[in-house]
Amino acid sequence: MNTQDINRRIRLVMDLRTKGITDAKVLGAMERVPRDEFVPAAVRDQAWDDMALPIGRGQTISQPFVVASMTQALKLSDMDKVLEIGTGCGYQTAILSKLCRRVYTIERHKPLLVRAEQMFEHLKLRNITALAGDGMKGWPKISGIQQAPFDKIIVTAAAREKPPQALLDQLKPGGMMIIPVGPSGDQWLKLYKKESDEAYAVRDIMPVRFVPLLPDIAKDDEGEISKNAAV
Ligand code: SAH
Repeated sequence: MNTQDINRRIRLVMDLRTKGITDAKVLGAMERVPRDEFVPAAVRDQAWDDMALPIGRGQTISQPFVVASMTQALKLSDMDKVLEIGTGCGYQTAILSKLCRRVYTIERHKPLLVRAEQMFEHLKLRNITALAGDGMKGWPKISGIQQAPFDKIIVTAAAREKPPQALLDQLKPGGMMIIPVGPSGDQWLKLYKKESDEAYAVRDIMPVRFVPLLPDIAKDDEGEISKNAAV
């Protein structure tokens, strides 16, 4: 790592602290995970700036402040089993993997998932299980093994009206889920706390702009044209 790279990382962490990220473990993960390696070469120069960037297939890597805020809100422990919906380039997954026991992550665009898995291998992140599929249905039983319920769930694409029921069902009582909710242009990041099998407390965290949660696995050519989709 050269001096310029170190300075950029430190500047981002200071920026995040100014904006309200106080959790030292979250800041540490944001400093260590090489965001520049997750983004396409064309935007690598901006990788350490606090902004969202395009990652292909019309999708985006979230703004570092949003990644840090979502992670901080989940109050992760190193015992937590976490489900993530919307792997994208895998940057948020990598941050989570540093702060919890195991991450299960689902992405509907297979080419994005393949690239993300190569990054996990490259960075030697061994506590991630990744799957191509529709995350709105939750984590499926695989070879008879059920991973649900999860301590925490993070969704990095926006639900139009409310969180998918399958995800609420896969949350442990006492567990938390963070998810953007609302139509394009009017989305709020919401934190759901499951108080019992039926009762949830909901808190608004901040207004955000995410791509929408979409059903089913993506078709091969989907996302090729809509390169300028909302962040
Ligand atoms: N967290 C990612 C960025 C998320 S962009 C990162 O750090 O790079 C949102 C992602 O959610 C997109 O890649 C999109 O394809 C994916 N997505 C949308 N609906 C989905 C669904 N139903 N299941 C799984 N992934 C979904």
